[in-house]
Amino acid sequence: MNYDVIIIGGGPCGLIAARDIAGQGAEVCVIEKSPEIGYPVKCSGLFSTAGLKQIGVDVSDSLICSTIRGGRFYSPGGEDFLAYSKQDRAVVVERKMFDKELARDAVRAGAKIRLKTTALDIKRNGRVSVRINEVGEEKTISSKLLIGADGAGSQVARWAGIERENKFVSGVQVEVAAADVESDVAEVYFGKSFAPGFYAWILPKGDVFEVGIGSTGGGGETPRELLKRFMAEHPIASKKLDSKSILEFNKGAIPVGGPRDTVSENIMLIGDAAGQTKASTGGGVITGGICARIAADAAISAIEEDNYSQEFLLTSYDQKWRAELEQEFMAHLFMKNIIDSATDPEIDSLFNMLKKEGVPELMTTFTDTDRPLEFIKEVLKKEEILNWAQRFLDIRKELLG
Ligand SMILES: Cc1cc2nc3c(=O)[nH]c(=O)nc-3n(C[C@H](O)[C@H](O)[C@H](O)COP(=O)(O)OP(=O)(O)OC[C@H]3O[C@@H](n4cnc5c(N)ncnc54)[C@H](O)[C@@H]3O)c2cc1C
Repeated sequence: MNYDVIIIGGGPCGLIAARDIAGQGAEVCVIEKSPEIGYPVKCSGLFSTAGLKQIGVDVSDSLICSTIRGGRFYSPGGEDFLAYSKQDRAVVVERKMFDKELARDAVRAGAKIRLKTTALDIKRNGRVSVRINEVGEEKTISSKLLIGADGAGSQVARWAGIERENKFVSGVQVEVAAADVESDVAEVYFGKSFAPGFYAWILPKGDVFEVGIGSTGGGGETPRELLKRFMAEHPIASKKLDSKSILEFNKGAIPVGGPRDTVSENIMLIGDAAGQTKASTGGGVITGGICARIAADAAISAIEEDNYSQEFLLTSYDQKWRAELEQEFMAHLFMKNIIDSATDPEIDSLFNMLKKEGVPELMTTFTDTDRPLEFIKEVLKKEEILNWAQRFLDIRKELLG
């Protein structure tokens, strides 16, 4: 079976690319190893409202569990601040059903989705042949262009020779029935003893709550053990949570090393496979989705020009998503590096500075939370904070140019 484009991976980024490619008239097929779109869930389903518009998604009201207006941030030593906006900033959606809506839209646009179908390997010979196992039967399908949307541990990246050492955060999350948390505020907890290298969160999701932890390991505890201890022993969070009311558990790896090279002859990578996640938050659906749309346009240009060379894909895809988002990814990496490098007492003193300098109020004036660069530049105009941050990183080189 031949297609114009094969997409390996039916997660949100693969499905967004499929929708846009099929919508422009090309023949596209999505290969998904799972028997069900959206399962297993590895996500909190927190998406900015600004970002959803950018990925062309109008989520059904029935999938929206909560609308979020603010964030309450806790330092390791218990300092806290609230950044609360007058407008809705984000929504928490039922992620499994969210992916299903994306699949529905892709199919309605003309895409084909082959479930329970695993890509086993590829061969390039002017086209790309993909050996697949579809419901127990081995076959080969082929296309002019292949898009790797196969997530954090991308095999397509390996097959394409786009290797590099990647950094991951392990994310684990449970859904609990009871928590004493405001219905429109996401809570974020920093501290190396509970969430080394990242943070923990409590998220209102309709009448349940998501409690999660991201960690880069350390101390000999598994992420699951860290989460259990966070829920039972964190001096503030444990008092808000009913850890006996767990309804669901999910986990996954989040790439936080920043984007990798994303093109090779006949191949583009998108989403987590391309490292297009926000290193400071772990969110990848919006940023990966924006890049998926750029990849879809590049695929259509490649078909029109009948040119699938690495050079063509470099200019039509790689350089375009970099122009749009690379600096924003660097801004997220900058924040992630601070979380990694600063000690708990240093984070406590940063919290005091942020509050003194009015940063929580400033935060509410920036509407696009996926793109923090302008916000960070504004914060770094405050000399005390710039001096503090300068101790950890060469900010001028890394961020301010
Ligand atoms: C605990 C946790 C919470 C998170 N919360 C959020 C959040 O609130 N907001 C947010 O934006 N992001 C969040 N993320 C990140 C988000 O889930 C990812 O960024 C997003 O799912 C990436 O989408 P993707 O399409 O690139 O890859 P994926 O969603 O990983 O999809 C890849 C797909 O490829 C399939 N696949 C892999 N290999 C093959 C193969 N060989 N053959 C066929 N199919 C294959 C997989 O089955 C999978 O369906 C969270 C992650 C974790 C772990």
